Amino acid sequence: MNMTKKGDINWIDLKNVANTLDSYRVRNFIDSKGDILETEVYNETEYDKILFQMIDQEILKYSLLNYLSQKEVNNLSFIQEFSSEKQIELKKTLSLLKLLEAEGLISLEYVYKESEDKKEFKDLNIIVENKDISNFKPIYEPVQLVFDEEICSGCGLCSGICPMDCITIENGHGNVDDDKCIRCGLCYFVCPRTYLPTDILDIYQENGSVIKNFGNIGFFLDAYAARTKVDEIREKCQDGGVTSTCLHYLFSNDLIDYAIGAKMGDEPWKPEPTIIENKNQILETAGTKYVNNPNLSLLNNGELKNKKIAVTGVPCQMQALLKNKIYDIGIPSLNAVEYRIGIFCMESFGYNEGFLKICEKLEVDVNDVQKTDINKGKFFIYTKDGQELAAPIKEVTSLAREDCEVCFDLTSESADISIGSIGAPSGWNCVLIRTEKGKELFNALLENDLIESKSISEVKPGLGLLKKIAGGKRKKSQKHIDTKREEHKIYPRY
Ligand code: SF4
Ligand code: SF4
Ligand code: SF4
Repeated sequence: MNMTKKGDINWIDLKNVANTLDSYRVRNFIDSKGDILETEVYNETEYDKILFQMIDQEILKYSLLNYLSQKEVNNLSFIQEFSSEKQIELKKTLSLLKLLEAEGLISLEYVYKESEDKKEFKDLNIIVENKDISNFKPIYEPVQLVFDEEICSGCGLCSGICPMDCITIENGHGNVDDDKCIRCGLCYFVCPRTYLPTDILDIYQENGSVIKNFGNIGFFLDAYAARTKVDEIREKCQDGGVTSTCLHYLFSNDLIDYAIGAKMGDEPWKPEPTIIENKNQILETAGTKYVNNPNLSLLNNGELKNKKIAVTGVPCQMQALLKNKIYDIGIPSLNAVEYRIGIFCMESFGYNEGFLKICEKLEVDVNDVQKTDINKGKFFIYTKDGQELAAPIKEVTSLAREDCEVCFDLTSESADISIGSIGAPSGWNCVLIRTEKGKELFNALLENDLIESKSISEVKPGLGLLKKIAGGKRKKSQKHIDTKREEHKIYPRY
């Protein structure tokens, strides 16, 4: 049933509408219309669009719950029947199923087909925990609890979409202004650290319909070593300069109006989110930054609405964007994101308590730092007078953000194209093409002679090393999540 279209309405549909209008998420959004419009983050047309899209999604979700409630246990074939009946893709139904699970209304058991060397997904057992949702209404809290539990990735999305503009993220620490917050729960809904349906993200990345395990670096179509041929980028870039070259091509061909990225701010080596308006500004954002930076907070910027945007960012930011592409509730700036250009990220540091402490450890004044790099198990600082200083990663990792400890993704598995240095020779990038859009972009760079590339299998150290390091990150994050779970703390549900 689509609330925005006329059609026959039956008793079950009405029940689904009633459940929807009674759900906290929708009700608070309706009740707070006046306050939201007064804040001017969204105008009335945008507010209506978000509300109706949210209602449509909730109705579909509750109709799935009603459908499932007919049996004690359901399986995948039942889900397929529901999808055909509603004329929606199976992956859409699976995404709603994961939402019901995250809200505690159902539980899912995965059934695997196991052979000697492989464990393949075979089916799902779906158990309805709460058939009558009037007894159980999932509440979406403001993300203050994500900040307090130190599991926030610092991606900035909550602050970028909050209809009351009441979330700030500074120095990697977030805060909700309780006096302004209307408890609409939108921040909780969009956050990649409340729940993140990783299986579903993979299905969308592969454009498939079956749950699969793609291993430690996620789904990808192709992998290359590549480096820029654009002189001014080559002079300024950290490794191969492919990220900046992507933006260079997109701006030159009017494929985007703006890009969101990070540039160094007023304090030395302290990055800040920035909107890039043309290709002349790209170089301001070149080079790797190891200090956490909430790029997605810029999505509340009115300029970006109804424009075409590319976002360059770290894996948690790509997850946030893909999650909300799947659970699209009509946020205008999110719908404007055309390209997700992900960079590799092992961990990030706060500024005062992280980066400046590393400088202290290496006995260098932050004003004298020319370049930083993480490579071969070391954190390198190159100074303006030509010194190379290094500390083993093991010795600086305790200075990384505690919130990053629960992060499993090294290679931006949710991006269209992922770019980093691990796996590629020095001066080159390792590039993972993940989606058709990423492939088109990479091919265009080649056709326009903006980059040179080799298959990753022709270079050393290659994907073996990348997979190994990514596996280490995944394992470490699982350990932290298990500890949080054992201590009955809040942890991200991936
Ligand atoms: S902080 Fe979260 S719950 Fe509060 S108004 Fe903003 S989005 Fe809604
Ligand atoms: S992870 Fe991102 S969306 Fe979630 S609380 Fe942190 S900044 Fe906000
Ligand atoms: S380690 Fe993970 S959570 Fe931390 S900044 Fe990198 S991608 Fe985001």
